[in-house]
Amino acid sequence: MAAAAAIAFLGGLIVGSFVTVVAHRVPRGESIVGPRSRCPACGTQIAAYDNVPVVSWLLLRGRARCCGAAISPRYPLTELVLGLLYMAAVLVLWDDPTEIALGLVFVTTLLAVTLTDLERRVIPNKILIVAAVLAVAIAAVGDPSSLPQRVIAAAAAGGVLFAAALAYPRGMGLGDVKLAATMGLFLGRDVAPAILVALLAGSLVGLAMIARDGAAARKRAIPFGPFLALGGVAGMLAGDQMVDWYLGTFS
Ligand SMILES: [Zn+2]
Repeated sequence: MAAAAAIAFLGGLIVGSFVTVVAHRVPRGESIVGPRSRCPACGTQIAAYDNVPVVSWLLLRGRARCCGAAISPRYPLTELVLGLLYMAAVLVLWDDPTEIALGLVFVTTLLAVTLTDLERRVIPNKILIVAAVLAVAIAAVGDPSSLPQRVIAAAAAGGVLFAAALAYPRGMGLGDVKLAATMGLFLGRDVAPAILVALLAGSLVGLAMIARDGAAARKRAIPFGPFLALGGVAGMLAGDQMVDWYLGTFS
């Protein structure tokens, strides 16, 4: 299990590097398979040995080899976060290969849309469609009896977010509605605690901003996608425990 966790971590680093490419290129309508990565500052093609996740950034001390331009720490951070999420998914979901496969695709999706939502305030349909198709395909092969529950969870989560978007149009959009529905496909009933965690975290941050900046904060909309992603990770890692705790406490 320790070996599997280490492999998962390394796999997460490598896929994380791909996620930064997807998050940069998809909202701009660019191809994700080619051309090779170029330095955003001077356009020089980046050599493979300078594109090793985390390691290259550390060796280059955060500067491009070609022109010395600063490379955002967002890149190594994204890789590191996905490495840790892959490791957590493998360790927590260890006894269920279908859940592991779903979990790896899920956290990859959540990280990609977190980046696009933070950077450009969009949650690209293309990313969600690929994720949804993969979720249904993996569940259909590994756990077909769970499909009805997943579809119901997707409709319910999308419905809740749609109502929230109607009530709070500045803070939430249709991208959040579609992301929540996609999360339902991955999580099934565990999407309920996931949405609760997202709403709670979003409210706390919103209140903290109002407490700090007063009325000015009300006018500033913060993207909700990252909070949904946070809730999604919580739902994946601890959703069953949260649902059991709720059912045990209130029924
Ligand atoms: Zn350069």
